Amino acid sequence: MFVFGPVPSRRLGKSLGVNNIPRKVCSYNCIYCQVGETKKFTIERRSYIKPEILVKEVRERVKNESVDYITFVPDGEPTLDVNLGLEIALMKSYGKVAVITNGSLLYRDDVKEGLQDADLVSVKVDAADEEIWRKINVPHEKLSFYKVVDGVEEFSERYKGKLITETMLVDGVNDDEKNLYRIAELIKKLNVSKAYLTLPLRPPRISFVKPPSRSKVQRAYMIFSSFGLPVVLLDFPEEGEFSTGKDFKTGLLSILSVHPMREEDVLKLMKEKGINYRVLEELESSGKIEKMSYMGVNFYRKK
Ligand code: SF4
Repeated sequence: MFVFGPVPSRRLGKSLGVNNIPRKVCSYNCIYCQVGETKKFTIERRSYIKPEILVKEVRERVKNESVDYITFVPDGEPTLDVNLGLEIALMKSYGKVAVITNGSLLYRDDVKEGLQDADLVSVKVDAADEEIWRKINVPHEKLSFYKVVDGVEEFSERYKGKLITETMLVDGVNDDEKNLYRIAELIKKLNVSKAYLTLPLRPPRISFVKPPSRSKVQRAYMIFSSFGLPVVLLDFPEEGEFSTGKDFKTGLLSILSVHPMREEDVLKLMKEKGINYRVLEELESSGKIEKMSYMGVNFYRKK
């Protein structure tokens, strides 16, 4: 099952997720990644899942459920899929399409071209210099910071859809004022609809990763605002309904492989669907999912 949810998204509303990349195939290994260590570090594009399989799953899910976006948000980097452009074009018959990318392959013309049909593209901008970029995003060795930034800028000049950026603030890593001014300056050139500031609110890959203090977050907001950016601070967990489709277990595992869920949300979903608590215990004892605590909150994620 490659399509999951819909899940509530703080940026996209009711979002039907499309997982077009195998687990943790990525060009980055971000320290805050919520799906764990990158298993296959690559910048080579290739075919993974047949486009017709993805489209069929989307078609079946939107038959019974209305969604705000069909969103490519895999547990890896979606632009590594060489068929992404075709998949976006095909899925547009079923609703608006969004792609959440780290932006690292936007220096490639085929990637820029393939994203043109998407209604919304979200690009990651966590750093404005090579040193901090390497520290926070841990890129593939063949990527160069300036090539990536130039690619994002070129894409923003051509792209006609809604472009947004996401900047994850990590305490002591990218939250100093100098870096924030430079990030804001960089984003200013991109003409974005929204510049989101996000915080690591779900269990990260590296345990020292924490959100900055309240005052630092407010300072970041003010710096972005001073550049006239349409800044939005996402400092709260998503609210709304999760959906697993007909098969609860499979649906839950598909969500958890991309999106760790708070224990309270899992329990609420089970209650609504009349699922016995033993189902969750079985998934945990068989090693399919794990429970973990982050900043005093319990989460479940796929193991
Ligand atoms: S956060 Fe996204 S870009 Fe970063 S390692 Fe995880 S999947 Fe890759």
